Amino acid sequence: MPLEIITVPCLSDNYAFILHNAETGETALVDAPEADPIRMALDERGWSLDYILLTHHHWDHVDGVPELISAYGARVIGNAADSDRLPRLDVSVYAAEETSLLGTRVKIFDVSGHTIGHIAFYLPDEKALFTADSLMAMGCGRLFEGTPEMMLASLTPLMALPDDITIYSGHEYTAHNARFALTIEPDNADLQRRMAEIETLRADDLPTVPSLLGAEKASNPFLRCHLGSVKAGVGMAEADDVAVFTEVRNRRNSF
Ligand code: ZN
Ligand code: FE
Repeated sequence: MPLEIITVPCLSDNYAFILHNAETGETALVDAPEADPIRMALDERGWSLDYILLTHHHWDHVDGVPELISAYGARVIGNAADSDRLPRLDVSVYAAEETSLLGTRVKIFDVSGHTIGHIAFYLPDEKALFTADSLMAMGCGRLFEGTPEMMLASLTPLMALPDDITIYSGHEYTAHNARFALTIEPDNADLQRRMAEIETLRADDLPTVPSLLGAEKASNPFLRCHLGSVKAGVGMAEADDVAVFTEVRNRRNSF
């Protein structure tokens, strides 16, 4: 029986995700931007909170932790390598480690770039990948701490995962990301189609997160810097992938 996964909008444009195993009654949360909407989502369903999984140290992903610990006694799981900047960890995980939680396998990816020590949680049996501010719907996180090389090296292994993986990312930035992507690949039909879908969802104030990895591969410029269409789109037909990725990221920063 698959885990139930609930998307919880938080703050102005963040997402947290609640994972629930109906057989064991166990529940986990990925990121804690603020406590109130998460408590409401849990209480509504009569669920407690056993674990909080943290992707990275930014306040808009961890601020709800103390209140959720005191309300539910949740145990905090995060990257050992970033433990001095995260709330106190009850369980440390390591890059490339395979562990299990809520009765399902969890693989840890180091996705440094936005921050150094940012991790993603891959649940292969649920076809789910929690990426927060690394791979995002139609985009990737800003490089506050890492380099373009580092972010590209973080995203590349994710691209090897199957197209039907669902990407649970951290923010509702998709419409702006899609408008930017169209400046790079105006003739990409998959991108044009996706832009239309995103506009429809946003017109009704609906989330565009989660998204499918296959759709990201087809339309997210940050996953397409090895392709001639993106290289040509930034006027760098002969450049290597890192140089093109750097240019795309720079352009997005000022878009
Ligand atoms: Zn962040
Ligand atoms: Fe964030």
